[in-house]
Amino acid sequence: MVQYLETDVLIIGSGGAGMYAAIAAADHGANVLLLDKSIVGRSGATIMAQMTVAAAVGEEEPDDWRFHLKDTIAAGRDLVDEPLAKILCQRAPEKIWQMEEWGVGWARSGNHLTQVHAPGHDRKRCVYVDFLNTGPATARTLRNQVRKFDNIRRVSDLIVTDLVLQDGRAAGAVALHLETGQAVTIAAKATVIATGGLTSMYNRNSASANMGGDGYALGLRAGAELIDMEFVQFFPIGHLAPRMTGMDPIMWDPFRYKLGGRLLNGKKEEFTQNYGAPEDGKYVVTRDAATYAIFKEVEAGRGSPHGGAWLSFEHIPEADLRAAFGPVIDKLANNGIDLTKMAIEVAPIAHYHMGGLRTDDSLATTLPHLFATGEAVGGANGANRLSGNAISETFVFGELAGRSAAALSHSAMPDIHHAAQPFLDIIAEASNRAGGGMTPTAATASLQTIMAEDVGPFRTADGLRRALDNLAQLAATLPELPTGGAMAFNQQLADWFGLRNMLVVARTIATAALARTESRGAHQREDHPGLDQAWTYNQVVRLDGDDIRLFRSEVRRLAQEELA
Ligand SMILES: Cc1cc2nc3c(=O)[nH]c(=O)nc-3n(C[C@H](O)[C@H](O)[C@H](O)COP(=O)(O)OP(=O)(O)OC[C@H]3O[C@@H](n4cnc5c(N)ncnc54)[C@H](O)[C@@H]3O)c2cc1C
Repeated sequence: MVQYLETDVLIIGSGGAGMYAAIAAADHGANVLLLDKSIVGRSGATIMAQMTVAAAVGEEEPDDWRFHLKDTIAAGRDLVDEPLAKILCQRAPEKIWQMEEWGVGWARSGNHLTQVHAPGHDRKRCVYVDFLNTGPATARTLRNQVRKFDNIRRVSDLIVTDLVLQDGRAAGAVALHLETGQAVTIAAKATVIATGGLTSMYNRNSASANMGGDGYALGLRAGAELIDMEFVQFFPIGHLAPRMTGMDPIMWDPFRYKLGGRLLNGKKEEFTQNYGAPEDGKYVVTRDAATYAIFKEVEAGRGSPHGGAWLSFEHIPEADLRAAFGPVIDKLANNGIDLTKMAIEVAPIAHYHMGGLRTDDSLATTLPHLFATGEAVGGANGANRLSGNAISETFVFGELAGRSAAALSHSAMPDIHHAAQPFLDIIAEASNRAGGGMTPTAATASLQTIMAEDVGPFRTADGLRRALDNLAQLAATLPELPTGGAMAFNQQLADWFGLRNMLVVARTIATAALARTESRGAHQREDHPGLDQAWTYNQVVRLDGDDIRLFRSEVRRLAQEELA
Protein backbone atom coordinates (compact mmCIF):
# COMPACT_ATOMS: atom_id res chain seq x y z
CA MET A 1 0.00 0.00 0.00
CA VAL A 2 1.30 3.48 -0.86
CA GLN A 3 0.99 6.16 1.79
CA TYR A 4 0.24 9.72 0.66
CA LEU A 5 1.40 12.90 2.41
CA GLU A 6 1.29 16.55 1.41
CA THR A 7 3.02 19.63 2.73
CA ASP A 8 3.90 23.21 1.86
CA VAL A 9 7.62 22.63 2.32
CA LEU A 10 9.32 19.25 2.14
CA ILE A 11 12.78 19.14 3.71
CA ILE A 12 14.85 16.10 2.84
CA GLY A 13 17.50 15.54 5.50
CA SER A 14 17.54 16.71 9.10
CA GLY A 15 21.13 17.65 9.89
CA GLY A 16 21.91 21.21 10.93
CA ALA A 17 20.88 22.64 7.57
CA GLY A 18 17.59 20.73 7.37
CA MET A 19 16.59 21.60 10.92
CA TYR A 20 17.48 25.27 10.51
CA ALA A 21 15.51 25.33 7.25
CA ALA A 22 12.51 23.72 8.96
CA ILE A 23 12.56 26.30 11.75
CA ALA A 24 12.79 29.20 9.28
CA ALA A 25 10.06 27.85 6.99
CA ALA A 26 7.74 27.13 9.92
CA ASP A 27 8.46 30.54 11.40
CA HIS A 28 7.34 32.04 8.09
CA GLY A 29 4.02 30.23 8.38
CA ALA A 30 4.62 27.20 6.16
CA ASN A 31 3.56 23.68 7.02
CA VAL A 32 6.77 21.68 6.99
CA LEU A 33 7.55 18.00 6.58
CA LEU A 34 11.06 17.32 7.91
CA LEU A 35 12.16 13.81 7.09
CA ASP A 36 15.29 11.76 7.34
CA LYS A 37 16.40 8.35 6.21
CA SER A 38 17.77 7.86 9.69
CA ILE A 39 16.56 9.44 12.95
CA VAL A 40 15.40 13.03 12.59
CA GLY A 41 17.92 15.41 14.14
CA ARG A 42 20.31 12.67 15.18
CA SER A 43 22.10 11.61 12.03
CA GLY A 44 24.39 12.88 9.30
CA ALA A 45 27.55 14.93 9.76
CA THR A 46 26.21 17.72 11.96
CA ILE A 47 25.94 15.63 15.09
CA MET A 48 29.48 14.34 14.45
CA ALA A 49 31.08 17.77 14.05
CA GLN A 50 33.96 18.23 16.40
CA MET A 51 34.72 21.74 17.24
CA THR A 52 35.00 24.73 14.95
CA VAL A 53 32.29 27.11 13.78
CA ALA A 54 33.71 30.05 11.84
CA ALA A 55 32.09 33.45 12.28
CA ALA A 56 33.51 36.95 12.54
CA VAL A 57 31.94 37.70 15.92
CA GLY A 58 35.17 39.41 16.96
CA GLU A 59 34.99 38.27 20.57
CA GLU A 60 38.68 37.31 20.99
CA GLU A 61 40.10 40.00 18.73
CA PRO A 62 38.57 42.59 16.38
CA ASP A 63 37.14 40.99 13.28
CA ASP A 64 34.84 41.74 10.38
CA TRP A 65 32.89 39.46 8.03
CA ARG A 66 34.90 40.94 5.13
CA PHE A 67 38.11 39.45 6.59
CA HIS A 68 36.36 36.10 6.87
CA LEU A 69 35.20 36.42 3.27
CA LYS A 70 38.72 37.29 2.12
CA ASP A 71 40.11 34.16 3.80
CA THR A 72 37.31 32.00 2.36
CA ILE A 73 37.98 33.27 -1.15
CA ALA A 74 41.74 32.75 -0.78
CA ALA A 75 41.27 29.19 0.51
CA GLY A 76 38.91 28.40 -2.38
CA ARG A 77 41.72 29.00 -4.89
CA ASP A 78 39.84 31.48 -7.07
CA LEU A 79 36.76 29.32 -7.64
CA VAL A 80 34.57 30.55 -4.78
CA ASP A 81 31.06 31.67 -5.70
CA GLU A 82 31.62 35.05 -4.06
CA PRO A 83 27.98 36.14 -3.63
CA LEU A 84 27.22 32.87 -1.82
CA ALA A 85 30.37 33.15 0.29
CA LYS A 86 29.42 36.72 1.16
CA ILE A 87 26.03 35.56 2.42
CA LEU A 88 27.79 32.89 4.48
CA CYS A 89 30.37 35.19 6.08
CA GLN A 90 28.11 38.22 6.55
CA ARG A 91 25.28 36.32 8.24
CA ALA A 92 27.32 33.81 10.25
CA PRO A 93 27.75 36.11 13.31
CA GLU A 94 23.99 36.70 13.74
CA LYS A 95 23.45 32.93 13.61
CA ILE A 96 26.06 32.38 16.34
CA TRP A 97 24.11 34.77 18.58
CA GLN A 98 20.79 33.19 17.64
CA MET A 99 22.16 29.76 18.57
CA GLU A 100 23.46 31.25 21.84
CA GLU A 101 19.97 32.61 22.55
CA TRP A 102 18.57 29.13 21.86
CA GLY A 103 20.93 27.70 24.47
CA VAL A 104 23.79 26.09 22.57
CA GLY A 105 26.32 27.20 25.19
CA TRP A 106 29.35 28.34 23.20
CA ALA A 107 32.57 28.05 25.22
CA ARG A 108 33.43 31.27 27.05
CA SER A 109 36.56 32.85 28.51
CA GLY A 110 35.35 35.23 31.19
CA ASN A 111 32.65 37.42 29.65
CA HIS A 112 33.37 36.71 26.00
CA LEU A 113 33.08 33.76 23.62
CA THR A 114 36.29 31.76 23.21
CA GLN A 115 37.55 31.65 19.63
CA VAL A 116 40.38 29.56 18.18
CA HIS A 117 42.63 30.24 15.24
CA ALA A 118 42.04 27.53 12.62
CA PRO A 119 44.21 26.97 9.53
CA GLY A 120 43.58 29.42 6.70
CA HIS A 121 41.85 32.01 8.91
CA ASP A 122 43.83 35.19 9.56
CA ARG A 123 42.83 35.38 13.20
CA LYS A 124 40.99 33.66 16.06
CA ARG A 125 37.60 33.20 14.41
CA CYS A 126 36.14 29.80 15.34
CA VAL A 127 33.75 29.42 18.25
CA TYR A 128 33.03 26.00 19.70
CA VAL A 129 31.08 24.34 22.49
CA ASP A 130 33.57 21.89 23.84
CA PHE A 131 36.08 19.37 22.67
CA LEU A 132 34.20 16.89 20.39
CA ASN A 133 30.88 18.36 21.51
CA THR A 134 30.08 21.16 19.08
CA GLY A 135 28.09 18.90 16.73
CA PRO A 136 25.99 17.19 19.42
CA ALA A 137 25.26 20.52 21.15
CA THR A 138 24.31 22.14 17.85
CA ALA A 139 22.00 19.27 16.87
CA ARG A 140 20.38 19.21 20.34
CA THR A 141 19.73 22.96 20.27
CA LEU A 142 18.10 22.78 16.86
CA ARG A 143 16.03 19.71 17.82
CA ASN A 144 14.66 21.65 20.78
CA GLN A 145 13.69 24.54 18.52
CA VAL A 146 12.10 22.25 15.93
CA ARG A 147 9.93 20.69 18.64
CA LYS A 148 8.44 24.09 19.46
CA PHE A 149 6.65 24.31 16.12
CA ASP A 150 3.34 22.49 15.66
CA ASN A 151 3.62 23.09 11.93
CA ILE A 152 6.76 20.91 11.61
CA ARG A 153 6.00 17.21 11.13
CA ARG A 154 9.00 14.94 11.64
CA VAL A 155 9.35 11.52 10.04
CA SER A 156 12.34 9.24 10.58
CA ASP A 157 13.46 6.21 8.52
CA LEU A 158 12.07 7.64 5.30
CA ILE A 159 14.49 7.34 2.36
CA VAL A 160 13.65 9.69 -0.46
CA THR A 161 14.38 7.74 -3.63
CA ASP A 162 13.30 10.21 -6.33
CA LEU A 163 11.95 13.72 -6.76
CA VAL A 164 8.70 14.10 -8.65
CA LEU A 165 8.06 16.89 -11.16
CA GLN A 166 4.88 18.59 -12.29
CA ASP A 167 4.89 21.12 -15.14
CA GLY A 168 8.69 21.26 -15.11
CA ARG A 169 9.02 22.08 -11.44
CA ALA A 170 9.76 20.11 -8.29
CA ALA A 171 6.47 18.95 -6.82
CA GLY A 172 7.47 16.52 -4.08
CA ALA A 173 9.07 13.11 -3.82
CA VAL A 174 8.69 9.39 -3.56
CA ALA A 175 10.18 7.63 -0.57
CA LEU A 176 10.68 4.22 0.99
CA HIS A 177 9.72 3.81 4.64
CA LEU A 178 12.46 1.62 6.04
CA GLU A 179 10.50 0.61 9.12
CA THR A 180 7.55 -0.85 7.20
CA GLY A 181 8.97 -1.40 3.71
CA GLN A 182 6.11 0.74 2.33
CA ALA A 183 6.35 3.33 -0.43
CA VAL A 184 5.28 6.90 0.32
CA THR A 185 4.26 9.68 -2.09
CA ILE A 186 4.78 13.24 -0.84
CA ALA A 187 3.28 16.22 -2.67
CA ALA A 188 5.00 19.53 -1.82
CA LYS A 189 4.79 23.09 -3.02
CA ALA A 190 8.52 23.53 -2.44
CA THR A 191 11.27 21.01 -1.73
CA VAL A 192 14.60 21.58 0.06
CA ILE A 193 17.50 19.18 -0.37
CA ALA A 194 19.43 19.07 2.91
CA THR A 195 21.02 15.66 2.49
CA GLY A 196 24.63 16.64 3.29
CA GLY A 197 27.72 15.38 1.48
CA LEU A 198 29.09 12.28 -0.18
CA THR A 199 32.21 11.16 1.63
CA SER A 200 30.99 7.66 2.43
CA MET A 201 31.64 6.98 -1.27
CA TYR A 202 35.32 6.60 -0.25
CA ASN A 203 36.58 3.64 1.74
CA ARG A 204 38.50 5.80 4.23
CA ASN A 205 36.24 8.61 5.39
CA SER A 206 35.08 10.55 8.42
CA ALA A 207 31.45 10.01 7.49
CA SER A 208 28.51 8.07 8.79
CA ALA A 209 26.89 5.62 6.37
CA ASN A 210 24.15 8.05 5.38
CA MET A 211 26.45 10.55 3.67
CA GLY A 212 26.41 8.95 0.23
CA GLY A 213 25.53 11.90 -2.01
CA ASP A 214 21.79 11.13 -2.29
CA GLY A 215 20.75 14.76 -2.71
CA TYR A 216 23.10 15.32 -5.64
CA ALA A 217 21.66 12.29 -7.43
CA LEU A 218 18.07 13.24 -6.61
CA GLY A 219 18.60 16.74 -8.00
CA LEU A 220 20.54 15.59 -11.04
CA ARG A 221 17.98 12.96 -12.09
CA ALA A 222 15.20 15.54 -11.72
CA GLY A 223 17.03 17.98 -14.01
CA ALA A 224 18.89 20.27 -11.59
CA GLU A 225 22.53 21.23 -12.19
CA LEU A 226 25.53 20.43 -10.03
CA ILE A 227 28.72 22.45 -9.73
CA ASP A 228 32.37 21.80 -8.72
CA MET A 229 31.85 18.05 -8.34
CA GLU A 230 35.59 17.31 -8.71
CA PHE A 231 36.40 18.98 -5.38
CA VAL A 232 36.23 16.40 -2.59
CA GLN A 233 38.03 17.56 0.52
CA PHE A 234 40.35 15.15 2.28
CA PHE A 235 40.99 15.76 5.95
CA PRO A 236 44.79 15.46 6.21
CA ILE A 237 45.22 14.09 9.71
CA GLY A 238 42.65 11.30 10.01
CA HIS A 239 43.73 8.69 12.55
CA LEU A 240 45.70 5.83 10.98
CA ALA A 241 47.55 3.91 13.72
CA PRO A 242 47.77 2.48 16.32
CA ARG A 243 44.32 0.90 16.47
CA MET A 244 41.91 3.15 18.33
CA THR A 245 38.30 2.28 19.19
CA GLY A 246 35.42 4.40 20.46
CA MET A 247 36.98 7.63 19.26
CA ASP A 248 36.55 9.75 16.19
CA PRO A 249 39.16 9.44 13.39
CA ILE A 250 39.33 13.22 13.04
CA MET A 251 39.74 13.91 16.76
CA TRP A 252 43.31 15.17 16.28
CA ASP A 253 41.99 18.41 14.84
CA PRO A 254 40.99 19.92 18.21
CA PHE A 255 44.27 18.69 19.67
CA ARG A 256 46.10 20.68 17.06
CA TYR A 257 43.96 23.80 17.65
CA LYS A 258 44.74 23.78 21.31
CA LEU A 259 48.25 22.36 21.46
CA GLY A 260 49.81 22.76 18.04
CA GLY A 261 51.62 19.45 17.76
CA ARG A 262 54.22 18.52 15.17
CA LEU A 263 53.53 16.86 11.84
CA LEU A 264 56.53 14.69 10.92
CA ASN A 265 57.51 12.36 8.10
CA GLY A 266 58.81 8.79 8.49
CA LYS A 267 62.25 10.17 9.40
CA LYS A 268 60.60 12.22 12.15
CA GLU A 269 61.39 15.47 10.31
CA GLU A 270 59.01 18.37 9.76
CA PHE A 271 58.22 18.51 6.06
CA THR A 272 55.32 20.83 5.15
CA GLN A 273 57.78 23.70 4.66
CA ASN A 274 59.22 21.77 1.69
CA TYR A 275 55.83 22.21 0.01
CA GLY A 276 55.65 25.95 0.63
CA ALA A 277 53.62 25.61 3.83
CA PRO A 278 55.76 25.97 7.00
CA GLU A 279 54.10 25.02 10.31
CA ASP A 280 56.60 25.91 13.06
CA GLY A 281 54.69 23.91 15.66
CA LYS A 282 51.44 25.75 14.95
CA TYR A 283 48.39 24.50 13.10
CA VAL A 284 48.30 26.79 10.10
CA VAL A 285 48.51 24.70 6.92
CA THR A 286 45.26 24.46 4.93
CA ARG A 287 43.72 21.04 4.32
CA ASP A 288 44.54 20.78 0.64
CA ALA A 289 48.18 21.76 1.20
CA ALA A 290 48.65 19.33 4.13
CA THR A 291 46.99 16.46 2.22
CA TYR A 292 49.28 17.11 -0.72
CA ALA A 293 52.41 17.24 1.44
CA ILE A 294 51.60 13.99 3.28
CA PHE A 295 50.87 12.07 0.08
CA LYS A 296 54.05 13.33 -1.54
CA GLU A 297 56.17 12.27 1.44
CA VAL A 298 54.60 8.80 1.38
CA GLU A 299 55.17 8.56 -2.37
CA ALA A 300 58.83 9.51 -1.88
CA GLY A 301 59.22 6.65 0.61
CA ARG A 302 59.26 8.96 3.62
CA GLY A 303 55.90 7.97 5.07
CA SER A 304 55.20 6.56 8.53
CA PRO A 305 55.08 2.73 8.84
CA HIS A 306 51.37 2.47 7.89
CA GLY A 307 51.61 4.93 4.99
CA GLY A 308 50.90 8.33 6.51
CA ALA A 309 52.70 10.89 8.66
CA TRP A 310 53.54 11.09 12.36
CA LEU A 311 51.70 13.54 14.57
CA SER A 312 53.58 14.20 17.77
CA PHE A 313 52.60 15.87 21.03
CA GLU A 314 55.56 14.30 22.87
CA HIS A 315 57.12 17.71 23.55
CA ILE A 316 54.02 18.89 25.43
CA PRO A 317 54.05 18.34 29.22
CA GLU A 318 51.44 15.89 30.52
CA ALA A 319 49.93 18.61 32.72
CA ASP A 320 49.20 20.72 29.64
CA LEU A 321 47.67 17.75 27.82
CA ARG A 322 45.44 17.04 30.79
CA ALA A 323 44.49 20.67 31.23
CA ALA A 324 43.37 20.79 27.59
CA PHE A 325 41.73 17.39 27.19
CA GLY A 326 41.22 15.88 30.65
CA PRO A 327 39.16 12.66 30.35
CA VAL A 328 40.09 12.19 26.71
CA ILE A 329 43.65 11.47 27.82
CA ASP A 330 42.29 8.55 29.88
CA LYS A 331 40.28 7.28 26.91
CA LEU A 332 43.46 7.35 24.87
CA ALA A 333 45.26 5.46 27.64
CA ASN A 334 42.56 2.76 27.38
CA ASN A 335 43.58 2.45 23.74
CA GLY A 336 47.24 2.11 24.76
CA ILE A 337 48.08 5.62 23.54
CA ASP A 338 50.31 7.80 25.74
CA LEU A 339 50.88 11.04 23.88
CA THR A 340 53.79 12.01 26.12
CA LYS A 341 55.72 8.95 24.99
CA MET A 342 54.61 8.25 21.43
CA ALA A 343 53.56 9.91 18.22
CA ILE A 344 50.49 8.59 16.41
CA GLU A 345 50.12 8.03 12.69
CA VAL A 346 47.71 10.07 10.60
CA ALA A 347 46.70 10.09 6.93
CA PRO A 348 44.18 11.93 4.72
CA ILE A 349 40.56 10.68 4.72
CA ALA A 350 37.53 11.88 2.71
CA HIS A 351 35.77 14.50 4.81
CA TYR A 352 33.66 17.11 2.99
CA HIS A 353 32.43 17.96 -0.46
CA MET A 354 32.88 21.48 -1.84
CA GLY A 355 30.72 20.73 -4.90
CA GLY A 356 26.98 20.23 -4.93
CA LEU A 357 23.74 21.63 -6.24
CA ARG A 358 24.10 24.85 -8.18
CA THR A 359 22.01 27.61 -6.65
CA ASP A 360 21.36 31.33 -6.87
CA ASP A 361 21.53 33.72 -3.93
CA SER A 362 18.17 32.55 -2.59
CA LEU A 363 19.45 28.94 -2.66
CA ALA A 364 17.03 28.08 -5.46
CA THR A 365 18.52 25.36 -7.67
CA THR A 366 18.20 25.47 -11.43
CA LEU A 367 14.98 23.42 -11.11
CA PRO A 368 12.01 25.61 -10.11
CA HIS A 369 10.63 25.04 -6.60
CA LEU A 370 13.72 23.03 -5.62
CA PHE A 371 16.15 24.51 -3.08
CA ALA A 372 19.36 23.23 -1.55
CA THR A 373 21.06 23.91 1.75
CA GLY A 374 24.10 22.96 3.86
CA GLU A 375 26.77 20.72 2.43
CA ALA A 376 24.42 19.84 -0.43
CA VAL A 377 25.04 23.34 -1.88
CA GLY A 378 28.02 23.70 -4.23
CA GLY A 379 30.26 26.67 -4.82
CA ALA A 380 30.53 28.69 -1.61
CA ASN A 381 33.91 27.18 -0.72
CA GLY A 382 35.42 26.85 -4.19
CA ALA A 383 38.24 24.32 -4.49
CA ASN A 384 38.94 24.03 -0.76
CA ARG A 385 36.92 24.71 2.40
CA LEU A 386 38.18 26.54 5.45
CA SER A 387 37.83 24.80 8.78
CA GLY A 388 34.63 25.87 10.54
CA ASN A 389 32.79 27.13 7.45
CA ALA A 390 30.65 24.01 7.15
CA ILE A 391 28.68 24.39 10.36
CA SER A 392 28.18 28.12 9.74
CA GLU A 393 26.93 27.10 6.30
CA THR A 394 24.28 24.83 7.85
CA PHE A 395 22.97 27.74 9.95
CA VAL A 396 23.10 30.51 7.34
CA PHE A 397 22.06 28.49 4.32
CA GLY A 398 19.53 26.53 6.38
CA GLU A 399 17.72 29.68 7.42
CA LEU A 400 17.86 31.14 3.92
CA ALA A 401 16.64 28.01 2.12
CA GLY A 402 13.79 27.58 4.60
CA ARG A 403 12.68 31.17 4.13
CA SER A 404 12.95 30.97 0.32
CA ALA A 405 10.96 27.74 0.21
CA ALA A 406 8.28 29.10 2.56
CA ALA A 407 7.70 31.99 0.15
CA LEU A 408 6.15 29.45 -2.25
CA SER A 409 3.53 28.31 0.28
CA HIS A 410 0.88 30.39 -1.47
CA SER A 411 1.16 28.28 -4.67
CA ALA A 412 -1.32 25.48 -5.41
CA MET A 413 -0.71 21.99 -4.03
CA PRO A 414 0.56 19.90 -6.97
CA ASP A 415 -1.24 16.70 -7.90
CA ILE A 416 1.58 14.18 -8.35
CA HIS A 417 -0.32 10.89 -8.27
CA HIS A 418 0.31 10.22 -11.93
CA ALA A 419 3.88 11.59 -12.10
CA ALA A 420 4.93 9.58 -9.04
CA GLN A 421 3.94 6.23 -10.53
CA PRO A 422 7.20 5.41 -12.45
CA PHE A 423 9.18 6.04 -9.25
CA LEU A 424 6.81 3.92 -7.17
CA ASP A 425 7.35 1.19 -9.77
CA ILE A 426 11.12 1.38 -9.17
CA ILE A 427 10.55 0.84 -5.44
CA ALA A 428 8.17 -2.05 -6.11
CA GLU A 429 10.60 -3.69 -8.53
CA ALA A 430 13.63 -3.24 -6.27
CA SER A 431 11.67 -4.54 -3.26
CA ASN A 432 10.84 -7.69 -5.13
CA ARG A 433 14.24 -9.05 -6.00
CA ALA A 434 15.23 -12.06 -3.93
CA GLY A 435 18.03 -14.41 -5.05
CA GLY A 436 21.77 -14.72 -4.55
CA GLY A 437 24.89 -13.09 -5.92
CA MET A 438 26.75 -9.92 -4.96
CA THR A 439 24.73 -7.91 -2.45
CA PRO A 440 24.22 -4.14 -2.73
CA THR A 441 26.38 -3.76 0.38
CA ALA A 442 29.26 -5.65 -1.25
CA ALA A 443 28.81 -3.66 -4.46
CA THR A 444 28.98 -0.43 -2.45
CA ALA A 445 32.30 -1.56 -0.98
CA SER A 446 33.57 -2.08 -4.55
CA LEU A 447 32.51 1.44 -5.47
CA GLN A 448 34.32 2.83 -2.42
CA THR A 449 37.50 1.05 -3.51
CA ILE A 450 37.21 2.37 -7.07
CA MET A 451 36.81 5.90 -5.73
CA ALA A 452 39.69 5.60 -3.27
CA GLU A 453 42.09 4.10 -5.80
CA ASP A 454 41.45 6.29 -8.80
CA VAL A 455 39.32 9.30 -7.78
CA GLY A 456 41.06 10.17 -4.49
CA PRO A 457 43.14 13.27 -3.82
CA PHE A 458 45.68 12.33 -6.52
CA ARG A 459 44.36 11.71 -9.99
CA THR A 460 45.59 10.86 -13.48
CA ALA A 461 43.78 10.60 -16.80
CA ASP A 462 44.46 6.85 -16.92
CA GLY A 463 43.17 6.30 -13.41
CA LEU A 464 40.05 8.40 -13.95
CA ARG A 465 39.24 6.56 -17.19
CA ARG A 466 39.77 3.26 -15.40
CA ALA A 467 37.40 4.42 -12.64
CA LEU A 468 34.74 5.38 -15.19
CA ASP A 469 35.04 1.95 -16.85
CA ASN A 470 34.83 0.16 -13.51
CA LEU A 471 31.86 2.28 -12.45
CA ALA A 472 30.09 1.44 -15.72
CA GLN A 473 30.67 -2.27 -15.12
CA LEU A 474 29.32 -1.95 -11.59
CA ALA A 475 26.33 0.04 -12.82
CA ALA A 476 25.49 -2.74 -15.26
CA THR A 477 25.03 -5.12 -12.32
CA LEU A 478 22.66 -2.76 -10.46
CA PRO A 479 19.37 -4.02 -11.94
CA GLU A 480 20.22 -7.59 -10.91
CA LEU A 481 21.55 -7.07 -7.38
CA PRO A 482 19.43 -9.05 -4.90
CA THR A 483 17.75 -7.01 -2.20
CA GLY A 484 16.21 -9.88 -0.26
CA GLY A 485 12.61 -8.93 -1.07
CA ALA A 486 10.06 -6.66 0.62
CA MET A 487 10.41 -6.57 4.41
CA ALA A 488 10.77 -4.16 7.30
CA PHE A 489 14.22 -2.66 7.95
CA ASN A 490 15.69 -4.23 4.82
CA GLN A 491 19.22 -2.82 4.82
CA GLN A 492 20.07 -4.42 1.49
CA LEU A 493 17.18 -2.55 -0.11
CA ALA A 494 18.33 0.69 1.51
CA ASP A 495 21.85 0.03 0.26
CA TRP A 496 20.53 -0.68 -3.23
CA PHE A 497 18.98 2.78 -3.38
CA GLY A 498 22.15 4.29 -1.90
CA LEU A 499 24.28 2.56 -4.51
CA ARG A 500 21.97 3.68 -7.30
CA ASN A 501 22.70 7.27 -6.24
CA MET A 502 26.41 6.76 -5.62
CA LEU A 503 26.90 5.34 -9.10
CA VAL A 504 25.63 8.46 -10.80
CA VAL A 505 27.38 10.85 -8.40
CA ALA A 506 30.69 8.98 -8.72
CA ARG A 507 30.51 9.44 -12.48
CA THR A 508 30.02 13.18 -12.08
CA ILE A 509 33.14 13.43 -9.88
CA ALA A 510 35.32 11.31 -12.17
CA THR A 511 34.08 13.03 -15.34
CA ALA A 512 34.64 16.52 -13.95
CA ALA A 513 38.06 15.50 -12.58
CA LEU A 514 39.09 14.06 -15.94
CA ALA A 515 38.12 17.26 -17.74
CA ARG A 516 39.96 19.58 -15.32
CA THR A 517 43.52 19.28 -16.61
CA GLU A 518 45.22 21.21 -13.81
CA SER A 519 45.80 20.89 -10.06
CA ARG A 520 43.86 23.22 -7.78
CA GLY A 521 42.89 22.92 -4.14
CA ALA A 522 41.43 19.50 -3.39
CA HIS A 523 41.75 18.38 -7.01
CA GLN A 524 45.33 17.28 -7.75
CA ARG A 525 46.24 15.82 -11.15
CA GLU A 526 49.60 14.07 -11.14
CA ASP A 527 49.69 14.40 -14.92
CA HIS A 528 48.81 18.12 -14.77
CA PRO A 529 50.65 19.55 -11.76
CA GLY A 530 50.17 23.18 -10.88
CA LEU A 531 47.32 25.60 -11.17
CA ASP A 532 46.44 26.74 -14.69
CA GLN A 533 44.81 30.19 -14.84
CA ALA A 534 42.99 29.14 -18.00
CA TRP A 535 41.01 26.79 -15.74
CA THR A 536 39.61 29.54 -13.53
CA TYR A 537 36.11 28.29 -14.28
CA ASN A 538 33.51 26.31 -12.42
CA GLN A 539 32.37 23.13 -14.09
CA VAL A 540 28.64 22.52 -14.21
CA VAL A 541 27.14 19.06 -14.59
CA ARG A 542 23.79 18.07 -16.10
CA LEU A 543 22.29 14.69 -16.79
CA ASP A 544 21.07 14.13 -20.33
CA GLY A 545 19.30 10.78 -20.40
CA ASP A 546 22.00 8.62 -18.84
CA ASP A 547 24.87 10.81 -20.09
CA ILE A 548 26.81 13.26 -17.95
CA ARG A 549 27.12 16.65 -19.67
CA LEU A 550 29.79 19.09 -18.50
CA PHE A 551 30.13 22.75 -19.29
CA ARG A 552 32.22 25.62 -18.01
CA SER A 553 30.77 28.56 -16.22
CA GLU A 554 32.32 31.90 -15.21
CA VAL A 555 33.01 32.13 -11.48
CA ARG A 556 30.48 34.51 -9.91
CA ARG A 557 32.38 37.48 -8.47
CA LEU A 558 31.51 40.40 -6.26
CA ALA A 559 32.23 43.95 -7.34
CA GLN A 560 35.54 45.18 -5.90
CA GLU A 561 33.82 47.69 -3.60
CA GLU A 562 31.78 44.87 -2.01
CA LEU A 563 35.03 43.18 -0.97
CA ALA A 564 36.72 46.30 0.40
C1 LIG B 1 33.38 13.75 11.84
C2 LIG B 1 33.08 15.11 11.28
C3 LIG B 1 33.52 16.24 11.95
C4 LIG B 1 33.27 17.52 11.44
N1 LIG B 1 33.69 18.62 12.15
C5 LIG B 1 33.39 19.87 11.67
C6 LIG B 1 33.75 21.03 12.39
O1 LIG B 1 34.36 20.97 13.47
N2 LIG B 1 33.42 22.25 11.86
C7 LIG B 1 32.77 22.38 10.66
O2 LIG B 1 32.49 23.50 10.22
N3 LIG B 1 32.40 21.28 9.97
C8 LIG B 1 32.69 20.05 10.44
N4 LIG B 1 32.31 18.94 9.72
C9 LIG B 1 31.50 19.14 8.50
C10 LIG B 1 30.06 19.47 8.89
O3 LIG B 1 29.71 18.72 10.04
C11 LIG B 1 29.07 19.15 7.76
O4 LIG B 1 29.48 19.74 6.55
C12 LIG B 1 27.68 19.66 8.09
O5 LIG B 1 27.29 19.22 9.38
C13 LIG B 1 26.66 19.17 7.06
O6 LIG B 1 25.37 19.47 7.55
P1 LIG B 1 24.10 19.17 6.67
O7 LIG B 1 22.93 19.53 7.48
O8 LIG B 1 24.28 19.79 5.34
O9 LIG B 1 24.16 17.59 6.44
P2 LIG B 1 24.14 16.40 7.50
O10 LIG B 1 24.32 16.87 8.89
O11 LIG B 1 25.09 15.37 7.00
O12 LIG B 1 22.64 15.87 7.40
C14 LIG B 1 22.16 15.28 6.22
C15 LIG B 1 20.98 14.40 6.60
O13 LIG B 1 20.33 13.98 5.40
C16 LIG B 1 19.85 12.66 5.58
N5 LIG B 1 19.66 12.06 4.26
C17 LIG B 1 20.61 11.81 3.32
N6 LIG B 1 20.04 11.26 2.24
C18 LIG B 1 18.71 11.17 2.49
C19 LIG B 1 17.61 10.65 1.75
N7 LIG B 1 17.76 10.11 0.53
N8 LIG B 1 16.38 10.69 2.32
C20 LIG B 1 16.21 11.20 3.55
N9 LIG B 1 17.22 11.68 4.30
C21 LIG B 1 18.46 11.67 3.78
C22 LIG B 1 20.95 12.00 6.40
O14 LIG B 1 20.47 10.86 7.08
C23 LIG B 1 21.37 13.12 7.33
O15 LIG B 1 20.70 13.08 8.56
C24 LIG B 1 32.57 17.66 10.22
C25 LIG B 1 32.13 16.52 9.54
C26 LIG B 1 32.37 15.26 10.06
C27 LIG B 1 31.88 14.05 9.30
